[in-house]
Amino acid sequence: MTIALSQNRAHTQVFNALAEEILAHNSNGLCKEDLTRWREDLQTRLQRVQQHPEQNMGFIEENIRQSALELQRLLVQKAMQDKADAVDEKCPDCQHTLRNKKRRVEKVVDAYCGKVKLQRTHGWCPDCDKWSFPADRVLGLRDDSNASPLVQELCALLVSKMPAEQAEALSLRVIGRSLSRSTLARQAQYQGDEAIALRQQLVNKPIVQTSTLKAALGVDSPPKPFTLVIQIDAWNIRERDHWGQTQSMRRRQEELKRWHWVYTATCFRLDHRCQKGRHKNKLRAIITERSYVATRGGVEALMPQLYYEARVRGMAQAERVLVIADGAVWIWNLVKDRFTDALQRLDLFHANAYLWAVANELHGKGSLQARQWVKPLLRQIRNDKVADVITHLQDLQPRLKTAETKAANAAIEYYKNNQSRMTSYRAGRQRNEPVGSGAIESTCRQLQGRMKRCGQFWSTAGDEALLCLEMFWRNDRWDLLFPHAKLTSLANN
Ligand SMILES: [Zn+2]
Repeated sequence: MTIALSQNRAHTQVFNALAEEILAHNSNGLCKEDLTRWREDLQTRLQRVQQHPEQNMGFIEENIRQSALELQRLLVQKAMQDKADAVDEKCPDCQHTLRNKKRRVEKVVDAYCGKVKLQRTHGWCPDCDKWSFPADRVLGLRDDSNASPLVQELCALLVSKMPAEQAEALSLRVIGRSLSRSTLARQAQYQGDEAIALRQQLVNKPIVQTSTLKAALGVDSPPKPFTLVIQIDAWNIRERDHWGQTQSMRRRQEELKRWHWVYTATCFRLDHRCQKGRHKNKLRAIITERSYVATRGGVEALMPQLYYEARVRGMAQAERVLVIADGAVWIWNLVKDRFTDALQRLDLFHANAYLWAVANELHGKGSLQARQWVKPLLRQIRNDKVADVITHLQDLQPRLKTAETKAANAAIEYYKNNQSRMTSYRAGRQRNEPVGSGAIESTCRQLQGRMKRCGQFWSTAGDEALLCLEMFWRNDRWDLLFPHAKLTSLANN
């Protein structure tokens, strides 16, 4: 009992000292009543924890977090108001003096720590022919929403990673307050649209290389020759193009085209790829620095974006450019168009799959004979002897049954179409280059994990916005969308 009492006394002293500190030394401090209320709340919470022997440190953390959220809300409100009060009351677009000014118009802003009230001036700009709120612009608030910049960011981040329903539940535990599913979805869409516009500007501008990238590329030191690897692939996504019209369209027997392609690519320097793992035969390739592209906008949208990312990764300085992909015709047309001098390589695993299909037809799927038949042929492919494999398959043809002929023909056609891309597996291995497009395939799987969930439908605008946000995140450009995010990385370095 004595111990509990003295602990309480110690707490009270600490809180009083802290509150005095904030009042005395912080000119942006809070009013005494606010602080008193906060202090009492915290005291009550902590006393409760002390009295309950079953409440562990988690209760201490959670109580302090919740209590601090209120203090943070008061501080944000105060600092935001101070900043708004100092804003020049001119049109933020043309600097014209505003007319018909109305002061202290209230806006309730949804900040990460709760609702905060802002009072600011608005006025009419005769030049721009519109009403404007200069303080809102300075604070990064939108006319059409109440979300603070940090809430805008959190919504964009969460929804680009998971469905809004899930984000709603998660936000309560992670940031300590719940963001509604509609706010989450709406903000993610806004921010995604902004990201698309910004990306459009970026790809049309000269390349800006960050200092890390410059150091990695050795721009300031004597150039070290390197290979730039590009991998391209596509996957499909389910979209509902005709909301609410499904029934009537079905009656008219119109086809609903719900599945659309997402074009995806990655590029990285070969020397940024290393092998990790405990056992020699269980090594995984890890790529430390890489760029990503994913778009629903078709090959035409993919091309300039991929070209941009390749230049960001130093294509101009690269000794060689190597493109690895499967046999899709559109990919190699793109490569011919934008990466003329690149070495082209067919993904080895796609190449192998055609031989396996023949083996399974000939000898039965999973049979020992199938394995024995395919083994020497796989070796020939791996050693750039695709011509021999084609001859071998052609020699077989007269003796084959229908299904076998079909598989053999498909393999022959695939190998003939891609023959020139099947001549560098050996040399590639010797240079430690990838022979398959595993890096992009794993990226596609990750994106599908978000975009292809059961029962999910996407609109073109919606999925492009989310993909774009995800690419900003992966490409380390998040702070271009949310400049305040820089502070976290600075604080953690
Ligand atoms: Zn104006």
